[in-house]
Amino acid sequence: MSKRDYYEVLGVNKSANKEEIKKAYRKLALKYHPDKNKGDKSSEEKFKEASEAYHVLSDDKRKANYDQFGHAAFQGSGGQGGFSNFDFSSSFSDIFEDVFGDFGDFGFSTGRSRRRTNNRGNDLRYDISIDLNDAFKGTEKKISYTTYKKCKTCSGGGAKPGSKPSVCNYCGGQGKVRSSQGFFTIQQTCPQCSGEGETIKDPCNNCSGIGKTQSNESVSVKIPKGVDDGTRIRLSGKGEAGSKGGGSGDLYLFVSVEGHNIFKRAEENLYYELPISIADAALGTTVEVPSIDGGKTKIKIPAGTQSGKQLRLRGKGMPILRRSSTGDLYIRIITEVPTSLTKKQKELLEEFKTLEDTKSNPLIKTFFDKAKKFWKN
Ligand SMILES: [Zn+2]
Ligand SMILES: [Zn+2]
Repeated sequence: MSKRDYYEVLGVNKSANKEEIKKAYRKLALKYHPDKNKGDKSSEEKFKEASEAYHVLSDDKRKANYDQFGHAAFQGSGGQGGFSNFDFSSSFSDIFEDVFGDFGDFGFSTGRSRRRTNNRGNDLRYDISIDLNDAFKGTEKKISYTTYKKCKTCSGGGAKPGSKPSVCNYCGGQGKVRSSQGFFTIQQTCPQCSGEGETIKDPCNNCSGIGKTQSNESVSVKIPKGVDDGTRIRLSGKGEAGSKGGGSGDLYLFVSVEGHNIFKRAEENLYYELPISIADAALGTTVEVPSIDGGKTKIKIPAGTQSGKQLRLRGKGMPILRRSSTGDLYIRIITEVPTSLTKKQKELLEEFKTLEDTKSNPLIKTFFDKAKKFWKN
């Protein structure tokens, strides 16, 4: 595909000066900006073409290279101009700062532009606490909070209906003021209009000219299953209203998950300790144990189960956020030594003691065999 001549793209002739080139580009950029022509491919192409042309012609060095070599100056790696392909996404926000920086917010995004974020409403944080069952199943919570919404009376403009904001007399509508300090010229945001470029003489009664009013909002929030302590949920546009056409901020839900009296959580896995009697541990048994879904699971405790043994129930843990897999449930067996014995229990245990055999307690035997050797040396 042959490239159009950059001068032709911008509609200027070769003798055009910087100001004329800037002006021509600004006109095209406003016309073809993607935010104004959503989904229109040919506008997007024209916008990119114009941006590229401006990128080259606005820079003395690049322009000189282009004037001498044409498009060939920028072809291949490290060509005459020192750049091969015009990196649109990383260059165009600089271009916009350059071309539109002095002219206020045009209501569309310029990539990295700081100007726009200034007008964007504040993000809000809302802390919400849910229990483990809700984290397991997912839930929906209605939350109420106070925020700033665009004023309905003045539609956010801040001026009394029927009146108009007037151009700021301090900065002449530029939003910025320049002052000289020695050799330097410092540019600052206008202190009178805070960079807006206009002041409101007749403020809206409803919002006192701020353009926003405090409002109590409530919103239903879907909390997905698998959320963990510290999960953040973003509700786009549910934060404070922006000013001067800036977008609303977001509402961030910070989720904390309460502790459970049975289940402990370690990411997607759950665990608990299961106490069993020494008789059950020695003889073996079957127990019904709770799982987080509210159900019961039968587990077999084999004869001779030692304290500390861990069992794993696959898939009985927590769901993993935004995935279809599930963690496991780990059950650690603890043998409970009986206390507060009845007379009968005591008698039986004493009788049992007389029947004890080193074969049935191999650990005890092994340990004291080692101990005896140790004492001998
Ligand atoms: Zn208002
Ligand atoms: Zn001002």
